Amino acid sequence: MKKQEALKKRVKEIIKILSKEIPDTRIALKFYTPLELLIATILSAQCTDVKVNQVTVDLFKKYRSAKDYAESDLEKLEGEIRPTGFYRNKAKAVQKCCQEVIKRFGGEVPNTLEELVSLPGVGRKTANVILGNAFGIPGIVVDTHVHRVSRRIGLTKNDDPTKIEFDLMEIVPKGKWTYFSNLLVWHGRRTCIARKPLCEACSIRKWCDYGSKTN
Ligand code: SF4
Repeated sequence: MKKQEALKKRVKEIIKILSKEIPDTRIALKFYTPLELLIATILSAQCTDVKVNQVTVDLFKKYRSAKDYAESDLEKLEGEIRPTGFYRNKAKAVQKCCQEVIKRFGGEVPNTLEELVSLPGVGRKTANVILGNAFGIPGIVVDTHVHRVSRRIGLTKNDDPTKIEFDLMEIVPKGKWTYFSNLLVWHGRRTCIARKPLCEACSIRKWCDYGSKTN
């Protein structure tokens, strides 16, 4: 079997196994609208999702539109998001991003990768999180978990997130790009943890380069 075909089969098996183990693959960030997810992902840099959710529960009640953020008092906004860390930079990023959303997209968060990455502070990872989870448009999200787990399994040899994204796009069926990313995130959090992966307890060990080499 050709290498690419073998990797596709491996992905298929991994999806089959992990989907039984992880029935709810929704991302941990809480949101109701694309704008809320955009703000939550900006706040989630260097911060846990739990902490972001604690902050956004009040923030989202107060700020309902891109205009609310764009015209907000910067110092006040800083105070409101302070528990997420790097609050000065994040407040500026939120404001700038929302000002662009208003100026160029009439206040609505755009739904294409090209438009999303054109917003200040939005990279491919954030853009794909929003596309897949708020718009239902498939996107491979290479966060720290997907980066680590896909390399350990042997789905990519690359280290650069964009190259990993393109490698995974080749072997994961398009309709499952977001789903597969979310499966790997959950697997990375629970089993394939960064410090010491729990290979002995791992259900996909048979399909993993790293795990099948360890005893
Ligand atoms: S076998 Fe080990 S390294 Fe491979 S996916 Fe499972 S926990 Fe991670």
